[in-house]
Order: sequence, then structure tokens, then C-alpha cells
Amino acid sequence: MRVLLVEDDPTLRAQLRAGLQEAGYAVDEADNGRDGHHLGSTESFDAVILDLGLPVLDGISVLMRWRGAGLTLPVLILTARDSWHEKVAGIDAGADDYLAKPFHMEELLARVRALIRRAQGLASPLLQCGALALDTRSGRVTLNGQLVNLTSHEYRLLSYLMHRPGTVVSRTELTEHLYAQDFDRDSNTIEVFVGRLRRKLPPETIETVRGLGYRLAAPP
Ligand code: CA
Repeated sequence: MRVLLVEDDPTLRAQLRAGLQEAGYAVDEADNGRDGHHLGSTESFDAVILDLGLPVLDGISVLMRWRGAGLTLPVLILTARDSWHEKVAGIDAGADDYLAKPFHMEELLARVRALIRRAQGLASPLLQCGALALDTRSGRVTLNGQLVNLTSHEYRLLSYLMHRPGTVVSRTELTEHLYAQDFDRDSNTIEVFVGRLRRKLPPETIETVRGLGYRLAAPP
């Protein structure tokens, strides 16, 4: 899962980046509205964290431009404390959720998880596919109740597929959603991680659909 972070306060941005990366997300960031708008318009993200008070172009304008262009990706806005009118303006501009500063990292992460799963029509934070279960809260993956140890890249890939069970996901889509822009994206990388996951899970769990991509199937 890949998240866009648009925040001009360098200290807060660094804290958010660290917290998101620790939670397993690939993170791209911008420190002003213009660059944030450009990134959100040209790259693929699973969620956006958008501060409203931004230099060059304010957050509400960024959001209105995205929504005006038909971009539906989930957006969590960060508002000033006690500013109820900012929340109203942000939600009316197309935000999916808001968080008032200051906030706890855990709350931000919970809201981001909820936005990502709701975007896929999923209600529960525990994703299940047959005997395979992925708890988005703890980052734990189990097979028949037994813990499966995954690296952060393996987890990110499996989590993306577990949010879309039965759907064919192309290698390009996976590359776009699993790595930040500055990551050295080698097209073979996805195949390597799929191979590693297949050694840790029943191999038929990740099905190759020739010429199209991969599909998650319930392990027997
Ligand atoms: Ca700000």
C-alpha cells in the first residue's frame, strides 16, 4: 500500500513518514500544495494524508481539483485544532475523513487502515481468505492459525492482494502501489516477492493469470 503525505511542517512530516513506513506503507511526500496536487494526479496511491494549511496551494484547493478531475482515492485531511469550519469545508470539498491536530499516530494509522479497506468495500480490519488471515491492525498474517513470518515487502504485497481477493492485479499495478517514487523499481522485483510468498504460503494461494497478473485464491 502506498500513501501520499502532503504536509509543510518538516517535524510533523518526518514523524508521519516514520510512523507510516513502520506500519508497512510506501510513502511519497510533498511540502506544498502544488507538488502534492501534481503527485496525486500523476502517481497511484491507496490513500492521501493532506494538511489543509499549505504553502503555494492550500489543501482545500488541492482536494477540489482532484475531485473535479474525477480522482476518487481516499483522502484524510489534517485540520487545525478547534476549527470546525475547516472540517466542514474539507468534507464538502471531498475529504473522506479528518483528523484535528494534534493527534496520536495510532489514531491516524487506524483511520488510514479504515479508509483503505472501505475503498475496497471491506468492513473488517481482519482480512480473511480461506485459511489465510491478515490482521491490518497488528500486521500479523496467519495460516490455519499459525503465524507466517513475512518481510515488510512481502507483507505489503500480500496485503494489497488480500484487499482484492479474487481480482486479477497486474504487475504494473502492484509496482505502482507497493513502492514510492524514488524506489528503484525493477519489473522483476514483484516476481521475486511473489516467489518468496509462494514458498511461505500454499503455492496455489497466488495464482498467475497469464499475460494479466496475479490473483489471490483461498488456500485449501
Ligand atoms: Ca500546515
